Amino acid sequence: EIRVRFAPSPTGYLHIGGARTALFNYFFAKRYGGKFILRIEDTDRERFKEDSVKQIISSLKWLGIEWDEGPEIGGRYGPYFQSERLELYRREAQRLVEEGKAYYCFCTEEETVMERKIQNSIKVPYRYSGKCSTLSKEEIEANIKMGKPYVIRIKLPRKGITEVSDLIRGTVSFDNSQLDDYIILKSNNMPTYNFACVVDDHWMKISHVIRAEEHLSNTPKQILMYKALGYEIPKFAHISMILAPDRSKLSKRHGATSVEEFKEQGYLKEAIVNYLTLLGWAPGGNEEIFSIENTVKKFSLDRVSKTAAIYDINKLSWINGNYLRSLDIDYITRETIPFFIEKGLISEDEIEYKYNYIKRVVSAVKEKVKLLSEIADASEYFFKDIDEYDPKGVEKRFKKDNVVELLTKGKLALEKASDFSVEAVEKVYRDLIDELGIKGGDIIHPTRLALSGRTVGPGLFDIISILGKEECLRRMDKAIE
Ligand code: GLU
Repeated sequence: EIRVRFAPSPTGYLHIGGARTALFNYFFAKRYGGKFILRIEDTDRERFKEDSVKQIISSLKWLGIEWDEGPEIGGRYGPYFQSERLELYRREAQRLVEEGKAYYCFCTEEETVMERKIQNSIKVPYRYSGKCSTLSKEEIEANIKMGKPYVIRIKLPRKGITEVSDLIRGTVSFDNSQLDDYIILKSNNMPTYNFACVVDDHWMKISHVIRAEEHLSNTPKQILMYKALGYEIPKFAHISMILAPDRSKLSKRHGATSVEEFKEQGYLKEAIVNYLTLLGWAPGGNEEIFSIENTVKKFSLDRVSKTAAIYDINKLSWINGNYLRSLDIDYITRETIPFFIEKGLISEDEIEYKYNYIKRVVSAVKEKVKLLSEIADASEYFFKDIDEYDPKGVEKRFKKDNVVELLTKGKLALEKASDFSVEAVEKVYRDLIDELGIKGGDIIHPTRLALSGRTVGPGLFDIISILGKEECLRRMDKAIE
């Protein structure tokens, strides 16, 4: 059975890299009828952030990445928080010690710091010397009796190579001499990542470990751990890094990096999922718009790229604009409403009775923008008076000799109209344009400025129809003054 897991450490928000890892695991599980497990790796209490679990869970849910086993729903192989599995790690660590595959290490911090300094001075990366691996039984017992703090270290081979056979990268070899007897249980009895991860992946019956490339160097350490513990080794797949456009590591200075931030900026979850899907996975063909359901049918690891993916915010925005135009208008309207509220354009209690109006505004405005927040920005004049006309527009449109006259004529024509549908007001204006023998733009542009204060936006007849007669006349009067 295919069982994969996403195993975030709750140290902050769900980062887009993490979201992509979660997605790829999810796709893989669903594609092959397997299970997707969520496991929270929360044993590093120093890096732990209180709200992080909640944040990660809500971001995953928001994106539509549902787990088959994990927090909130449980499952056969739980608990799914590492902090609730400490007993298991201690038991397995103890077993390794008994089998002579791990040992107590009483080296103090000063001692390891000293070792590190010496090694750094001759420019070799730090590796624990293995000093405590030769302690006799009596020495160990004496130390424990004295209450000396200790850690438990895995005993690793000094020679030979460890091969990682990776489903994306092929075989990658690591020299065992580069590894050291790393700590598996800290002096506070907490497991380290490379140990807890292996124990859990085994007991949770994980068949495929699909994770970020940054963990590739941990994999030989983990493979040796599987062997020491006598566990069957799962299959591995390491997904390439996501780099910034300048090929540096993606960081805060490149803008939003967490799913939460993208949401706040007005990206749709459909667009984020679609974008992340394409960030490292190439379905073949030119198609660029993919829903979760779509990808689930096609996903395979052999189409996941070996090379780094370059993060491109313009592409994400482009995809978002695409979804704004293609998804159901009621859905887009509901998603935009929080942005209206945030801008103070409507209040919570106005939502229902103004819903149809809001929906018409959204449907007109969304055509020319890329983000939900931009819909709100571009909609202000539908909800409040114009406090200022665009100065460039005033220069170009209001300063012509006959503008007052044209606007007055436009106003009179609208005043007489009883039908304010888009088609009807368009006809009113077209007839007037014909009658006056002017170019459409001569009256359309100044009318747009009078009604919206802006020079760009949705079609004028949409604006007229949405604002309605009374409001249009009022605004035209104001502009004519
Ligand atoms: N907790 C690790 C992380 O967030 C999990 C790595 C793994 O998938 O093994 O990076």
